[in-house]
Amino acid sequence: QPTLKIPASPREINDLGQAFNELLVAQNQRLQHERQFISDASHELRTPIAAIRGNLSLIRRRGDAHPEIIPESLNFIDEESLRMQHLIENLLHLSRADRAKLELTDQDLSFLLLQLGEHYQPSIDQPVKLAIDPDIHVPGNAEMLQQIVVALLDNAHKYSPHDQPITLSLTQTANSVRLAVADFGEGIPDDQKQAVFQRFYRVDQSRSQEIEGSGLGLAIVKQLVTLNQAQIEVTNNQPQGSIFTIIWSKPTKP
Ligand code: ADP
Repeated sequence: QPTLKIPASPREINDLGQAFNELLVAQNQRLQHERQFISDASHELRTPIAAIRGNLSLIRRRGDAHPEIIPESLNFIDEESLRMQHLIENLLHLSRADRAKLELTDQDLSFLLLQLGEHYQPSIDQPVKLAIDPDIHVPGNAEMLQQIVVALLDNAHKYSPHDQPITLSLTQTANSVRLAVADFGEGIPDDQKQAVFQRFYRVDQSRSQEIEGSGLGLAIVKQLVTLNQAQIEVTNNQPQGSIFTIIWSKPTKP
């Protein structure tokens, strides 16, 4: 039976008031966050819908007189609806990851990455180098770990020249395990390194706009990394490019 202690001293009343205030502020922030998310998501969905409706209207108005415009418009509608589908799938991923509480089990990360690297390489026309130390284990969820690494490899492929290699590496020190995906692309400016993990954030709209994407990939990656009790950071590669590193800190032995 829980007992409710009624605060007696002014100090206790003050503490209780402060705790209540903090709770309200936190809740307010969460609400604001959700509102922003819904507004961003609606905005992102509105663009492909407008494009689809515009092309449908074009076919209706001019299709009879100029049937040659129809195939191009249909292609456009096809592409935009596919983009919408991806966007919605990503949004679902995000909301699922929000709620997910998962069991972490021992994963042979070395083996998992070697397999993934071998399967991934044939899917792209760019060299993928593997530098994976053997027999490194972490607690995690295999499916999510694969999803994280594929997303980082996809980004490296998207944002770096295809004649430059992508490196997938795994190393272990006394107190950490580090998994890194490095590329020789344009890199990410220092003042935007944190922002790329926010939902819908894309660096340099003009550059990004030529490359397909919604700005949700890294937000999903970050959530999945957190669920796997690790951290993610991005640093500069030498002489150029980015390195995304996932870090598992081991508790230091007393
Ligand atoms: P998307 O690729 O769909 O835009 P992400 O969330 O995966 O979304 O990435 C957010 C932004 O971070 C990208 O738009 C891009 O500007 C930048 N970015 C991500 N990965 C890289 C990379 N490997 N090199 C340079 N820029 C990157």
